Amino acid sequence: MIAEPFWWDSAAPVRGDGVLPARADVAVIGGGLTGLSAALTLSRGGLDVVVIDGAALGAGASTRNAGFLSAELRRPLAALIERFGRARALAIAREARRAAAFLKALIDEENLDCTLHMSGRLVLACRPRHYHRLAEEARLESRLLGASVEMIPRAELESEIGSDLYHGAKLQAQCGVLHPGQLLRGLATRVREAGATLVSDNPVMSVRGARSRFLVTTRAGEVSAGRLVVATNGYSGRAVPYLRRRLVSLDVHMIATARLAPDRMRALLPQGRACIESSRIRRFFRASPAHDRLLFGGRASQRASVERAHRELASAMHAVFPQIRDVALTHVWSGRIALTGDGLPHAGERDGLHYVAGMNGAGIAMGPYLGHQVARGILKGRKPASPLLGTAGTRIPALAPLTRPLAPLVERYHAMRDWMERLR
Ligand SMILES: Cc1cc2nc3c(=O)[nH]c(=O)nc-3n(C[C@H](O)[C@H](O)[C@H](O)COP(=O)(O)OP(=O)(O)OC[C@H]3O[C@@H](n4cnc5c(N)ncnc54)[C@H](O)[C@@H]3O)c2cc1C
Repeated sequence: MIAEPFWWDSAAPVRGDGVLPARADVAVIGGGLTGLSAALTLSRGGLDVVVIDGAALGAGASTRNAGFLSAELRRPLAALIERFGRARALAIAREARRAAAFLKALIDEENLDCTLHMSGRLVLACRPRHYHRLAEEARLESRLLGASVEMIPRAELESEIGSDLYHGAKLQAQCGVLHPGQLLRGLATRVREAGATLVSDNPVMSVRGARSRFLVTTRAGEVSAGRLVVATNGYSGRAVPYLRRRLVSLDVHMIATARLAPDRMRALLPQGRACIESSRIRRFFRASPAHDRLLFGGRASQRASVERAHRELASAMHAVFPQIRDVALTHVWSGRIALTGDGLPHAGERDGLHYVAGMNGAGIAMGPYLGHQVARGILKGRKPASPLLGTAGTRIPALAPLTRPLAPLVERYHAMRDWMERLR
């Protein structure tokens, strides 16, 4: 069994070939999808950009995820309306749709070969009451957002999934699946072609300065930059305390099965859709791009060792699909997501430090979109109009100085809510 993402077999994270310059117009910290997207826009806008990553570019969540391209935010529309009021909630939900459209256009225009397939996504009801909740959500989404959603009752679920665990599903047509490793590599190539310097395996240790001059100290030296973009999301550490205080980072795990014969794979997911559960600690799964493996992911107990977390995940997979108990696992891996106090991604600027953070586990489209928006703001010298971009109301609420130790508590709270729902 390989303890690396399945995606890395065909598209490993990217090693930078650049040397840290003494000066740059903009330093981007974090070479995942978000940082690279910002770097592409900035470089094409004529600025001298250096992207710095502590590991290989993309070795964070960007090449460890499930590859679901979703037009949805993690928080359902009704919850957004309750919290922010109708007008702002709709603006935020539309922003998620714009993000998905942005990524699709980027893939198209930049010719990023990442096997994007608009498969649709099933949100699988884990309890009968979840089905009714999903149906209400579907009505609201199609009425207020014009979303293309359809409810599939339990009796008809057989044509969608080879499991009798679920009580129906909501089908979201505007979602797809892609190969995250290929997406990352393609984007890195375009950024390099645009003239940016890509530096990998060189962690940023500290950042000093403000407004128009920053001194970024890395393990291999210093760079002086006029502007700073921080795109470290779930991997945010001590270098930028402002972000670290506002994010709870959680480990999310994934496993891949050995190859399955085409008829066996078809019996599991006949339509090849992306699948996600309706519970709070959601498991998600899909077929590999060649439709010959099952990729299964989810959060496990945050205190568990990585090995135990992967075992927990394998038993969850077997509970959904007992018919593949005999199939070996070939890959196990984990990645880090960042949660925010209000469940929304945020982008903004503080004393000249630009940031994009808090994707809440759904940043494949939102990360690049917000990275691009922040970059446009820098180029134009003004804040772009987005409900997720640094207005006072969207500033990330500070959570605690020690957000990493909070992770098991957050996890336990969600597990308890799932457990209580089962009792009702
Ligand atoms: C298992 C899993 C499954 C997921 N599935 C999905 C999905 O299906 N759909 C979806 O939309 N989202 C999904 N996500 C979330 C998605 O992957 C992330 O939201 C997205 O990749 C975030 O991209 P990013 O560029 O902002 O951050 P990352 O890709 O995490 O990149 C952050 C980078 O910052 C670097 N860094 C951190 N600190 C420093 C430092 N001090 N100096 C230099 N570099 C530093 C890290 O090395 C890292 O490369 C999933 C996440 C995980 C973990």
